[in-house]
Amino acid sequence: ENPAESHVFEADVARLLHMMVHSVYSDKDVFLRELISNAADACEKLRYEAIATPVLLASDPDSRIVLTLDEEGGRLLVEDNGIGMSRDEMIEALGTIARSGTRAFMERIEANKQGEGAQLIGQFGVGFYSCFMVAERVDVVSRRAGADNAWLWSSDGKGGYSVSPIDISEAPARGTRITLHLMDDAKSYASRWSIERIVKEQSGHVPVPIRIAEKPGAEPTQLTDGTALWTKSKNDITGEEYIDFYRGVSGQYDEPALTVHFRAEGRHEYSALAFVPGSQPFDLFDPDRKGRMKLYVKRVFITDEAELLPRYLRFVRGLVDTADLPLNVSREMIQESPILTAIRKGVTNRIITAIEKQAESDKDAFLKIWENFGSLIKEGLYEDFERRSQLLALSRFRTTVSGDGYRSLADYVKDAKEGQRSIYYLVGGSLDQLKASPQLEGFRARGIEVLLLTDSVDSFWVTNAPEFEGKSFKSITQGSADLAQFNRQDEGKPESESASAEVQAFLDYAKQKLAAEVSDVRASDRLIESAVCLVASEQGYDRQLEKILQGAGR
Ligand code: ADP
Ligand code: MG
Repeated sequence: ENPAESHVFEADVARLLHMMVHSVYSDKDVFLRELISNAADACEKLRYEAIATPVLLASDPDSRIVLTLDEEGGRLLVEDNGIGMSRDEMIEALGTIARSGTRAFMERIEANKQGEGAQLIGQFGVGFYSCFMVAERVDVVSRRAGADNAWLWSSDGKGGYSVSPIDISEAPARGTRITLHLMDDAKSYASRWSIERIVKEQSGHVPVPIRIAEKPGAEPTQLTDGTALWTKSKNDITGEEYIDFYRGVSGQYDEPALTVHFRAEGRHEYSALAFVPGSQPFDLFDPDRKGRMKLYVKRVFITDEAELLPRYLRFVRGLVDTADLPLNVSREMIQESPILTAIRKGVTNRIITAIEKQAESDKDAFLKIWENFGSLIKEGLYEDFERRSQLLALSRFRTTVSGDGYRSLADYVKDAKEGQRSIYYLVGGSLDQLKASPQLEGFRARGIEVLLLTDSVDSFWVTNAPEFEGKSFKSITQGSADLAQFNRQDEGKPESESASAEVQAFLDYAKQKLAAEVSDVRASDRLIESAVCLVASEQGYDRQLEKILQGAGR
């Protein structure tokens, strides 16, 4: 009597599905990770809602995920007793890909059909839709916790889906059951052997127990116990386990570059497990994406918007679990909580210290982190006053002597010329462009190192950077270069202090002619081969910042 309504996917979704199945995912097993992680999320959401509305959990307090095999029927069922979805939520959540970055993701695949596939997956979890890699039809039956109706969502993943009401006797008492009608070449996903292997490999530490039933109607047995990995002691956790967990919590498919796991005791008690990803997450520069650290209170997931880390560490993935906050803390209250402020400080310090240690103990590994996230860490140079010096010491730079490598400021200072009071830098759009700059001539000739800064954050932090080991930062395009005190390596004798009379006469003439365009004309030690260059005045903006501000319509 109630005919199913038909809907079409957004055009983007159809394209994404097609590309995913045909070119992106090389490892189809990942569909199970995605479904299990959604099921676990649903259980966590329910536990959170049940803090305010305990009746939602009352009849069946233990969360679980059940995988049911149907080898004969060529089906795999994934069921959870989590929050479930209403009709509208189904349409909203399964009919659109709401994740930010989707478009950018697709543009990149289009541009590079095969090569990048595996890496791209490392940066972008495709979520629910990955089940269409193995299923020719997917039925999702869901009953939202507390609701007295249930809905069936069904699709072949090609162009659209249908939604219809179904009798609650055919739905789980609460939560979601996903039935995959497996493709011919994916029937092995109905066998115990492969499902057990995949779950152990990928989802061993999902914080909800996973059970498996040999066939429909059979009594399920336990596959994983749902112990939260972060509550275990470090010594009992293998590297593999950390990697699996990282993949689950980050939605990435690479390996972490750094793992920070600790338990804080004393005034505040909490556990933290944080990862620096091995590659750049896709949404790193998405302005809506604040942080990706999850907050748990006594193993109950509360929010991933608690801003547990400063903005410049937004590439870090992981979680904090504390017993110091009340379970019923509202998400709004969290931001103001002094406990959270203390936790934020503690976790931030530990992460930065871990990166510092990495810089000492494994230089190559550290430089990879720096290449991926250095431009974010440098945002801390003007956002995090307290840690400015520490972050400055951690920073690495391309310079006129670095070649393809990097130099620290400590390296710079160690090799600075006698009497050199400044750390010289040049800011610009690209390394090649900077290296060709005539401004560098005088510095090169005197063997004075210059930092070559090409990230857009560079224009900002340098303007109020603190001194480093007694040396202040100085733009070589700004003010006078004071180079005369240093010997040119090709001549070996200092240049005269002031311009000769002839030169002075020319300067006066040029100043008069250009009076409307420039504020001063000076003889300069900074040029060797080139005749002239433009510099900013000592007080004004640096040339590059000037360009950025002009571009921004200032
Ligand atoms: P993500 O998990 O990153 O949000 P997915 O594509 O994996 O993206 O899932 C999309 C959305 O579908 C989820 O955010 C959730 O709202 C909903 N959803 C998927 N699976 C379930 C489930 N088992 N129970 C409840 N909601 C679900
Ligand atoms: Mg998901």
